[in-house]
Amino acid sequence: MASKPSGMAGFDAYYSSLWGERWESLRRFLLEPEIQVLRWNRWVLSELDSLPADDFLKGCARRPSDFAGPGRTHSGLLDCYVMDPASVIAARCLPVKDGDLVLDLCAAPGGKTLILAENLVQSGELVANELSPERRGRLQKVIQNYIPREARERIWVRGQDGSRWGLKQPNHYDAVLIDAPCSGERHLLENPTELDSWSPKRGESLAHRQYALLCSAFMATAPGGYFLYSTCSINTVENEAVVRKFVKKKFGFQIQTPLGLNLAAAGSDPTTPAGSDHTTSLGPEQREFGQIFLPDQCGFGPLYFCLFQKKA
Ligand code: SAM
Repeated sequence: MASKPSGMAGFDAYYSSLWGERWESLRRFLLEPEIQVLRWNRWVLSELDSLPADDFLKGCARRPSDFAGPGRTHSGLLDCYVMDPASVIAARCLPVKDGDLVLDLCAAPGGKTLILAENLVQSGELVANELSPERRGRLQKVIQNYIPREARERIWVRGQDGSRWGLKQPNHYDAVLIDAPCSGERHLLENPTELDSWSPKRGESLAHRQYALLCSAFMATAPGGYFLYSTCSINTVENEAVVRKFVKKKFGFQIQTPLGLNLAAAGSDPTTPAGSDHTTSLGPEQREFGQIFLPDQCGFGPLYFCLFQKKA
């Protein structure tokens, strides 16, 4: 039996088979420097004298080219967190309100954890789980640097295998985020050594882990609660195919279009970019299941996400 092509040539052939002619522009934009925003820390907004007027995304400003890093405020907390705008939008698509019980299943380094925590202004609890001890350490520092002590008392950092969480605490959380480990092609393209050892098996094996995490999150979600699956991959095997398998095998949930999401005017052919000018729309493209931000369309991402609601 012929082995599947691997390394850089195999990588190009594989993504070209997924994306057709669009792969060339996607590849080019994945190699461009990432567009990032400074997301202002909501817990210290009253301490900040002024915010840049740039209203690119609510509560965010484009990262200036001469940005020297977040500043410390009087309370000792940092003033802003640097993120990809697509990550901000996706995390905000998971409905979280004051008083909710929230689980962030794959949390480090913690950018999305901060967004979830900021919705629990007066009450509610957040569990931020991360399997890797080293990355869990970074997560703990981020929480300490950005969230005031009183609110931190309602946040727990855990180090479990997220794919088993649903068995331990079924039907428990109002909202669960599964920001799954994924191929991260932007990172791969920047790392020739990793690219040399790439093979299609990588995505297939990740898809198994992602499916297990998604099933676990579904179990852990309370009836009527929401769970949001996301990756920073453009590999459909890790995105729509994981959701398709979930939809086929499980029942008792509905896929939701997040409220207020401004969808890009994607054409009927998913292999063509939604807009001729990649800066024309801030909205993600609709896929068979869920939505995706692609860098050749909006300048940032990639970020795939799909919001579900468990039936009450
Ligand atoms: N949500 C994070 C953020 O916004 O900063 C990024 C999460 S990253 C895409 C995925 C994380 O999942 C990695 O830190 C990885 O170590 C962790 N991870 C991988 N397998 C896991 C598992 N089975 N259970 C929990 N965490 C896992």
